[in-house]
Amino acid sequence: MADLIAAGEVVERPASVIKELVENSLDAGAKNIIIEIRNGGATYIRVTDDGCGMTPDDLGISFIRHATSKLHDEAGLEAISTMGFRGEALAAISSVSRMEIISRAAGTNDGTRLTLNAGEIEDMSPFGCPQGTTVIVTDLFFNTPARLKFLKSDRSESSACSAAALHCALSRPDVSFRLIKDGEDEFLSPGDGKIDSALYSLLGRSEAASMLPCSAEYGGLSISGCVSSPAQGRGNRSRQFFFVNGRYIKSILLQTALEQAYRNTLLTGRYPSCVLYLNLSYGSVDVNVHPTKMEIRFGSEKTVFDFVYNAVRLALEEENRSCLHDSADAPPAPVQYPAPAKPTPSELRSPIPAYALKEPPEPDAEPLTIPGFSSPIQEAAVYPAENTSQESFSIPSSATFPGSTSRASQPSQPPPPEYNIIGEAFNAYIILEKNDELLLIDKHAAHERIIFNRLKSQERENTSQYLLTPATLSLSSEDSELLEANGELLGSLGFEIESFGKNEYIVRSVPADMFTADVVPAIEEILERIRTCNAPDPASVSDEILHTVACKAAIKAGWHTHRAEEEQLVRAVLSGEIKYCPHGRPVSVTVSRRELDKLFKRIV
Ligand code: ADP
Ligand code: MG
Repeated sequence: MADLIAAGEVVERPASVIKELVENSLDAGAKNIIIEIRNGGATYIRVTDDGCGMTPDDLGISFIRHATSKLHDEAGLEAISTMGFRGEALAAISSVSRMEIISRAAGTNDGTRLTLNAGEIEDMSPFGCPQGTTVIVTDLFFNTPARLKFLKSDRSESSACSAAALHCALSRPDVSFRLIKDGEDEFLSPGDGKIDSALYSLLGRSEAASMLPCSAEYGGLSISGCVSSPAQGRGNRSRQFFFVNGRYIKSILLQTALEQAYRNTLLTGRYPSCVLYLNLSYGSVDVNVHPTKMEIRFGSEKTVFDFVYNAVRLALEEENRSCLHDSADAPPAPVQYPAPAKPTPSELRSPIPAYALKEPPEPDAEPLTIPGFSSPIQEAAVYPAENTSQESFSIPSSATFPGSTSRASQPSQPPPPEYNIIGEAFNAYIILEKNDELLLIDKHAAHERIIFNRLKSQERENTSQYLLTPATLSLSSEDSELLEANGELLGSLGFEIESFGKNEYIVRSVPADMFTADVVPAIEEILERIRTCNAPDPASVSDEILHTVACKAAIKAGWHTHRAEEEQLVRAVLSGEIKYCPHGRPVSVTVSRRELDKLFKRIV
């Protein structure tokens, strides 16, 4: 009876059988695991491994409830390192199916075959087989018709099985997994220990190629794996895979940390993908929350959240940094890790580190005046003076590698990737040529992003500009309420709004970048945004407001733009500083010479 009840918890459907059997194989130290199913797993599931196997004695008790070879005392439960530990899976599965286990222990000559029917031994006898274990489960739920009725179509059970097998395979790039469905190969991973090759074989080429590496370490936490580029957002979360200490888990906490890191780069309704392996000490995470062990509890949620969020941010920033060096003739970026590293001496000398201008601006040229843009020259100048001393960057001689010279003695300046602004199309898109590429830049989107970044990063006190003539606002009582409820937030962003009778307000100042002619419609739009924004936390509401401010402050398509302004936008885009507008739309599109040549059939 207890087995049947436990079966209800552990064995929900064929996919859960696969998960439990494969975890046993992994615990047994298998290097190769083959999973075969027929009819969505309902009639046949086989898992074969080359792990340590079981002696006849162990095999004889393996299917008895609470028989586990993995936990020896209470202390073991505090720090669980194996996948299994409850000794429930074989007991539960065998009680609701016909099961056959064939196993030969390492170092023994003979194998054993055990057959069970609804948990009762039918036969146990010597059997010739290679080292390792094969478990075959047929006719799942044959003796529990109520559960059988709840199985979905073969097709949906089959895809749940694939997902379970995929999670297992992704969790261990060092183990080769093969999945066979109704006689056909579904996937085969090489098991060479490389994340890249596991992703390639399991998720497919294009998906794997577009992922960005992510890795970080801090305190007792470490993370590795890949996250998707913001350009590759998906319509759902089906490609978010989290592994904690080797276990596939579902976690709202990790999902939120991941998605927050993409805030303002992904279009709404698009989700990032990831394959992330988080490791923390076994004591600081509790996996014994539910029998399937798919939910976990972290000791310190905030630490884990911040760690994952920052690691993903770092990966995305690395992409921004490296995008400049995608073109073949530019040398690779100097490795600067972790992200906000000190500048190298060559970067300090050059006001614009990552690229060079065709015509560098004159030092005393008129200051350029697009609102919201701080030029790289000013930014470079804020590095503290002591950072410019040679020694702080020279690598100690012990750290130089054979054949390489220390960075300080040979500051390498990337040759300038020159560009040439050709003009503007429709007063909306800046066209430029650079190396072998043609770039189109959406000037409004680019400028909006620059302003948005600045608003987000800057000190609160200098964001305001006083209006020459204060604007008056008459609002509906609903809008008045919204305005008052968010008064503090608006104030911190640079709005100074005073009440002036019922539902009447005076606007005295607005964020410095906003065009003052736009004040009233902008505030109305902000209120509308706050009303419709279903983001619960103040940070998202504040982002929503900043979107509107940035949008209102940015130059518009259709406006004439000066060459100097175009230059600044172009430089911000080429430096990799901005890639997406705050709504997640790309700011630039690239067409290669090769693509053009192909269009004109110069090459095939
Ligand atoms: P648990 O994994 O929680 O220990 P299970 O019911 O899944 O419980 O398995 C019971 C025991 O059977 C395991 O502790 C292990 O000793 C043995 N066992 C099960 N599957 C295998 C396998 N593939 N290879 C070697 N031993 C196995
Ligand atoms: Mg187990």
